[in-house]
Amino acid sequence: MLPSEIFTGISMKTTDALGYTLRAELFFVSEPESQTFVKGQIWAENFVPRAHWEARLPLGIDNFHHPAGTGVIGHHTHWDRCYDMIDCIKEVKKVQDYHMDGNGWWDIGYNFLIGEDGRIYEGRGFHIQGAHCSGWNTQTLGFTIMGSFISDLPNERALNAAKQLMAEMEKRNFIDERCWSFFGHRDKGSTTCPGDRLYEEFKGWKNFHRECY
Ligand SMILES: [Zn+2]
Repeated sequence: MLPSEIFTGISMKTTDALGYTLRAELFFVSEPESQTFVKGQIWAENFVPRAHWEARLPLGIDNFHHPAGTGVIGHHTHWDRCYDMIDCIKEVKKVQDYHMDGNGWWDIGYNFLIGEDGRIYEGRGFHIQGAHCSGWNTQTLGFTIMGSFISDLPNERALNAAKQLMAEMEKRNFIDERCWSFFGHRDKGSTTCPGDRLYEEFKGWKNFHRECY
């Protein structure tokens, strides 16, 4: 990996005693035969790594084994919408606090969170198993679009970012490039997530309910 691919926002907050610099340089090593990877690799201009939104450290991690056996699950947060980076970071932090302090989880549940600013915020990321859909977390990567989309759609920027994210997952074979499936949360759990309107939108997306077996 080129040094330029590693996030270097360290000087942005050098007084943070909670270890911002440590987070920016965290290395995770997964199974012996697997790759070593760096948290915070910026793979797109609109990607916001954890270090940038000042994520709390996870209390624990489970490695996610690629490629995902099933594919991708899409969610909404059923909470507030956001349209710029300042507000979206507030939302992401709010969700992390709720998942960790309210639900008692190790970390924010989603692998990625998308705002109507068109940015993709790193949750657990590509390499760590999420907690977004009970029973399916070992087989799927999960993204959420921030907001409540029961009767409204997210804007085009958010929808395009979600498609961009799944294309990246496919390109890097994090979801099986030969065949993967896309679902809304309600397909795999007892929930109205991702909202009626967004679910209708998902029905027209690549690999929706594709049969891979
Ligand atoms: Zn959901």
